[in-house]
Amino acid sequence: MATKIPRVPVREQNPELRATNFEEVSYGYSLEEATAEASRCLQCRNPRCVGACPVGIRIPDFIAALHAGQLQRAADLIAADSSLPSICGRVCPQETQCEGACILGIKGEPVAIGKLERFVGDWKIDHGAAPEPAPRNKGRVAVIGSGPAGLACASDLARMGYGVKIFEALHEPGGVLVYGIPEFRLPKERIVAREIEAVRRLGVEIETDVIVGRTLTVDSLLDEEGFDAVFIGSGAGLPRFMGIPGENLNGVVSANEFLTRANLMRAYDAQYDTPIYVGRRVAVVGGGNVAMDAVRTARRLGAEATIVYRRSERELPARVEEVHHAREEGIRFRMLTNPVEVLGDERGWVRGLRCVEMELGEPDASGRRSPVAKPGSEFDIDCEVVVMALGTSPNPLLSATTEGLATDRRGCITADEHGATTREGVFAGGDAVTGAATVILAMGAGRTAARAIDEYIRNKPHKK
Ligand code: FAD
Ligand code: SF4
Repeated sequence: MATKIPRVPVREQNPELRATNFEEVSYGYSLEEATAEASRCLQCRNPRCVGACPVGIRIPDFIAALHAGQLQRAADLIAADSSLPSICGRVCPQETQCEGACILGIKGEPVAIGKLERFVGDWKIDHGAAPEPAPRNKGRVAVIGSGPAGLACASDLARMGYGVKIFEALHEPGGVLVYGIPEFRLPKERIVAREIEAVRRLGVEIETDVIVGRTLTVDSLLDEEGFDAVFIGSGAGLPRFMGIPGENLNGVVSANEFLTRANLMRAYDAQYDTPIYVGRRVAVVGGGNVAMDAVRTARRLGAEATIVYRRSERELPARVEEVHHAREEGIRFRMLTNPVEVLGDERGWVRGLRCVEMELGEPDASGRRSPVAKPGSEFDIDCEVVVMALGTSPNPLLSATTEGLATDRRGCITADEHGATTREGVFAGGDAVTGAATVILAMGAGRTAARAIDEYIRNKPHKK
């Protein structure tokens, strides 16, 4: 394999055009482009990329198979460690994981591992061998939530021979993949729906519109509905607000609500009558992936859209690619800026955001330099909508309604490294345990818990 070839660029929609539509930004590689990019991998004997992947995907092996044109083998090699390659190839923060560690990145550009993973994942969806349902003879498991954690746990258990039923609160399965991450980053029909269909084909039942903790509870699933174990993958969907004056004015929304209206309820599509208010100018407070998704959605809905972030560009937690795409699409960035009040008009609607300028002081507990307000630096940003993208926490409903389920002070479910909670027979993983994190970590936690559930049920003394 050659080493001096430059990284193969990926074709993307023109920024001016895409700022007016919801179609996917990146077109991904063709077979020729993927093969050329695969030829750059040095096939390191001690591959640093694998150590930096949260689930240890055998990266050089799948790249070698792809380079040799053995696409089913490449797909099988990835599948041994990841159930959602099309999705992870699109949304993983590769620059801080596999690609951040790739040896080629020391002097030049790392192998485009994410784009290659996406290519293989998409090939598998279009051409790969369909999964066979296994005989269901081992027991029954209930899975709460159909995000990456729940889907991964359910499909592994189904492959092992368990009868699995997912209970999902919303009317469509997929969790954040469907209601949070926008269409222009992750196509719903072409990718997410087909990944979910593959889980169904394994024999997994999915019941939507069921909020566990209301009509059903974890206790009733175990004691009355005959499930041998329960996996909780309920995510962290409860938005945080700043607690500043004016936050209850009309026109202030959480990023979760804003994105759910746009994505899950298709507010961007004229065929749907979901209301979404953007006004002329939208200010999005925050600097993570959620903030980037909200601000780019607002721009596509026709607003002049601005990120308001209290630290500097270096500390932005969003993926580098999303920040780059946002800038190309004309998003404004007000860095080192912190809101202190939402300003309203006489009818109770937002008319602006009062902010202060910040400077960076000493590092805080997270190791990042903490922002400090500059005295006398107040100024106003004119806007009609303020979207708060300040992070989320797990919803307390399940912990409040389940006997013996411990949580930490952030409301996250307490679980050991295998996903076992403090309640016998109840396992948990993903954002519900870690707080808001990443797709790959949630998927990995779901798979780890599936192995622990299998062991638990096999060793259960009173198994029927
Ligand atoms: P979720 O995906 O949140 O799924 C939980 C599911 O459980 C939901 O469908 C919910 O409706 C359901 N549920 C909750 N309570 C109940 C109940 N009581 N009964 C029944 N069902 C219930 N990560 C990345 O790696 N890259 C990114 O680019 C990225 N961008 C993001 C952008 C946005 C806008 C958001 C919000 C998150 C983003 N993330 C990203 C984070 C990532 O999506 C999450 O870490 C991941 O989805 C967590 O998976 P999960 O399965 O734990 O939970
Ligand atoms: Fe290939 Fe880079 Fe991994 Fe080495 S570190 S095996 S060059 S992807």
